[in-house]
Amino acid sequence: MNYRHAFHAGNFADVVKHALLLELLRAMQRKDKPFLVLDTHAGIGRYDLSSGPAEKTGEWRDGIGKLLTARPEPLADYLALVEKLGLYPGSPAIIAALLRPGDRLIACELHPEDAATLKQNFRGALGVAVHERDGYEALRAFLPPPERRGLILIDPPFERPDEFAALEKSLCGAYEKFRTGVFAVWYPVKHRAPVREFFERLKTSNLRDVVAAEFLRRPAIDPTRLNGCGLLVVNPPYGFVPAAETMLQAVQDVLGEPGASSLVERLINE
Ligand code: SAM
Repeated sequence: MNYRHAFHAGNFADVVKHALLLELLRAMQRKDKPFLVLDTHAGIGRYDLSSGPAEKTGEWRDGIGKLLTARPEPLADYLALVEKLGLYPGSPAIIAALLRPGDRLIACELHPEDAATLKQNFRGALGVAVHERDGYEALRAFLPPPERRGLILIDPPFERPDEFAALEKSLCGAYEKFRTGVFAVWYPVKHRAPVREFFERLKTSNLRDVVAAEFLRRPAIDPTRLNGCGLLVVNPPYGFVPAAETMLQAVQDVLGEPGASSLVERLINE
């Protein structure tokens, strides 16, 4: 396990994921009934962008840095939360900040050092349980939740060459156990072929009601670079698609290079 999220915290891919995650959480909270959020690949939770790995790569400057300066209106909710939380909030910090009484977060992280930091960051946090555990295995262990309502974020590092295949298998297995769950799966776009193949396999799977919200910072031509990213959402809540379109357009306006694009595409019907 070489990947450490601290080097990439707050970059363009992180802000896309986190802004859409917040939108999904808000949508789920339109109903009073409590729910479980399962964050299968959680990282350490909070990131100091002014020193250490994040400062070394400076990736955040072309992500959250620019957005906090430009302050586009469709991202106001997300940017206000980032500022309120102080250190750059990763997915578990965003989720934990929104938990209502009765809502729960289970955050899993496999890297021993990062899992220890994550545990320390959320020690005593109400409704939050941290596990040093394989995220794919956690999908089998924790679903379906007793609440019968759940949002599952699957955000692997994509350092394994077979990550798309592992993801597909785990997602379809988890969906089989919990068909009403809202699943949000982050994926990288370096070049189109692996993503296209992933989508084609999903279209012949058991999944129903799937959209993909994607931002390409530049055309996906050079496969050695992270040119864009997407969030695949199974069972998107009502209103998610138009909200995501507006948010991605705002990201594109601020962070896009020549040839940038964004799109929310329906992959599989209900
Ligand atoms: N979700 C985090 C966020 O948005 O702030 C970022 C997660 S980062 C992209 C992926 C994380 O998954 C890394 O911290 C890595 O150590 C961890 N990881 C890698 N393989 C894992 C596995 N099989 N199960 C759980 N965590 C894993």
